[in-house]
Amino acid sequence: MELYIHIPFCARKCAYCDFLSFPQTKETMQNYVEKLIKEIRRAGKEYGERPVSTIFIGGGTPSILEADQMTAIMQSVKESFSIEETAEISMEANPGTVTEEKLLAYKKSGINRISFGLQSADNRELQLLGRIHTYEEFLESYQLARACGFDNINVDLMSALPGQTVESWEDTLTRVAGLDPEHISAYSLIIEEGTPFFDKYGEERGNGLLPDEDAEREMYHRTKAILREMGYERYEISNYAKAGKECRHNIGYWTGIPYLGLGLGASSYIDGYRFCNNSDLKAYLANEPGERFDEVLLTEQDLQEEYFFVGLRLVKGVSLNRFEELFGVPAETVYPGLLEKMIRDGGAELHGKEDVFFHLTDFGMDVSNYFMSQFLQD
Ligand code: SF4
Repeated sequence: MELYIHIPFCARKCAYCDFLSFPQTKETMQNYVEKLIKEIRRAGKEYGERPVSTIFIGGGTPSILEADQMTAIMQSVKESFSIEETAEISMEANPGTVTEEKLLAYKKSGINRISFGLQSADNRELQLLGRIHTYEEFLESYQLARACGFDNINVDLMSALPGQTVESWEDTLTRVAGLDPEHISAYSLIIEEGTPFFDKYGEERGNGLLPDEDAEREMYHRTKAILREMGYERYEISNYAKAGKECRHNIGYWTGIPYLGLGLGASSYIDGYRFCNNSDLKAYLANEPGERFDEVLLTEQDLQEEYFFVGLRLVKGVSLNRFEELFGVPAETVYPGLLEKMIRDGGAELHGKEDVFFHLTDFGMDVSNYFMSQFLQD
């Protein structure tokens, strides 16, 4: 199984962000760390025997915690779970919050992959997003991470930002890929309701305030082309990696590996159940850990839908043999005519001889929501 650990704190809330994250006092952060460690130890009693292949410490901004707080969290994880020797252990970090002391402590505690939230190499765009850092500060943090021995680094980027042009996006891509990180995530900005961005820009593109749909599409196509030229293979709709450096944790999500979420609001999928933690900080701190919210037992139909709906995000697609192994029936029986129709429409293809994979074509990826949603049966 995989572990996800949520650290919900940030120095300041970015204007577009609807994640479960917020600024907090040092005292609350310390109380949170103590409660989280309690939750980790409790969960370890229930699930500690199962081998853990990946851990992802996300947020918020996990690197906002002090070095000794992260060390204590990792210590409790190692004492409570059976972590595989080769486990991928990632932590999200924001430029401007990491120091040499922190990075060395992460390394020592077993964290072997850092994911930097940069978003853009253009300081004006960063400012409009409400980010706390400049590109130069990112460079400093990135180089510090390399100097501290991190040889597996991801950089998160975002396109279709206010004020962004195709040229400035290309500039961001080439500058960042030029630094040679092992992995780059490149998502398109989605304007989420309830954020200051929603009030300012509204839901619709094409109102002159944001790059319009044509520009957004052009950015998406340029991403693939530029990153390929610079040595990155796309392995998922929005994720690119050097050979062998794909994010194992996320591949686990997309291929149905069970995961246990720890910390505020974290969701889990384990033993066929999906549930999440309390997402109210006051209640999380006050109550005993282990409460489950919105618990559902997934039906066979849910699992079949997810198999395609989530698995088709991967460039490699989904194994039809594995589908049959898992569900005891061929995919063609569950979805009569659908696979053939998608192939006829140019949205998908088959590859492989013994283990046959069904995957989206470039065109299918461009309109992935349309094709993937056809696997939803109700
Ligand atoms: S740093 Fe990330 S999690 Fe925190 S407010 Fe900004 S976008 Fe949200």
